[in-house]
Amino acid sequence: MKFFPLVAVVLLGWTYSHAADHPVAIVIHGGAGALEPGRYTAEQEEAFKAKLTEALDAGYATLDAGGSALDAIEAAIVIMEDSPHFNAGKGSVFTRDGANELDASVMDGATKNAGAVAGVKSVKNPIRLARAVMEKSRHVMFAREGAESFAREQGLEIVAPDYFYTDRRWDALQKALEEEKTGQRETAIPVDRKFGTVGAVALDRNGNLASGTSTGGMTMKQWGRVGDSPIIGAGTYADNESCAVSSTGHGEFFIRLTVARDICAQVEYGGKTVAEATQDVIHNRLTEMEATGGVIVLGKDGDYAMAFNTRGMFRGVRTASEQRVAIYGNE
Ligand code: ASP
Repeated sequence: MKFFPLVAVVLLGWTYSHAADHPVAIVIHGGAGALEPGRYTAEQEEAFKAKLTEALDAGYATLDAGGSALDAIEAAIVIMEDSPHFNAGKGSVFTRDGANELDASVMDGATKNAGAVAGVKSVKNPIRLARAVMEKSRHVMFAREGAESFAREQGLEIVAPDYFYTDRRWDALQKALEEEKTGQRETAIPVDRKFGTVGAVALDRNGNLASGTSTGGMTMKQWGRVGDSPIIGAGTYADNESCAVSSTGHGEFFIRLTVARDICAQVEYGGKTVAEATQDVIHNRLTEMEATGGVIVLGKDGDYAMAFNTRGMFRGVRTASEQRVAIYGNE
């Protein structure tokens, strides 16, 4: 009996150090779409890859220092939101009437708690706001003025609407409006273009998964339109029992297929590997609906997938043994 406390201490210590030794990993994306070699100059490719690497390194450094998966995905996503290269935060696409309306969400795989915001126009980093909704409110999702008022209450950085402006996205809107006028574009929803949403999934030393997604939505969207990125189960999902997912693509279809949740459900209930579940949802179900896009997926044991049915997807992965970023399909 007198040995019991000693045994308990040893066992507890073993359990703790064992759990805290979990291998860490982070996977990110910067949007899927019609990305073919030749689309960008060598300098542009380098600039995209450098920004992906910076985001990946920031997330990995957080994990390596013992930080949480949530901190890691936030660190990676903020870097991509602040970059004009991606369709999230600065550099977001425009609505039909020339505004930026931003959506974001985050999910903690340990607690299955989640936070999301839709249609915000003045919050510099929507991913931080989504996290504040998760951690500092009793709700899961805030929209428009309510979300912005909550951001101010939480002391988050507020910017003037023109902060998000870039010539490139403005020109893309003008081109889309022109194509619509001349009949080259039948709907506001293009079939295979570059999406540019950003997302990250991470696994930390304690074996906790987290996921986050942030976007400006789709060029020429009708004002008030909300895509999949802030919808838990469509654009974002994380559960320590199965996997963490962040989506990019034609949001209406991702909502209808509950893409992120379906992948994790196939892992959890269907006994599929991350690769098999991802393959089924992207290459069978999404493709059968003639919809385009991609996902990043990270399993509880660190197995991951980066899948898309478009020509390419800005993406990257970093683990203890691997580090790479890529844009095109065959990279
Ligand atoms: N999924 C986003 C949306 O529909 C677009 C994207 O991935 O770029 O709003």
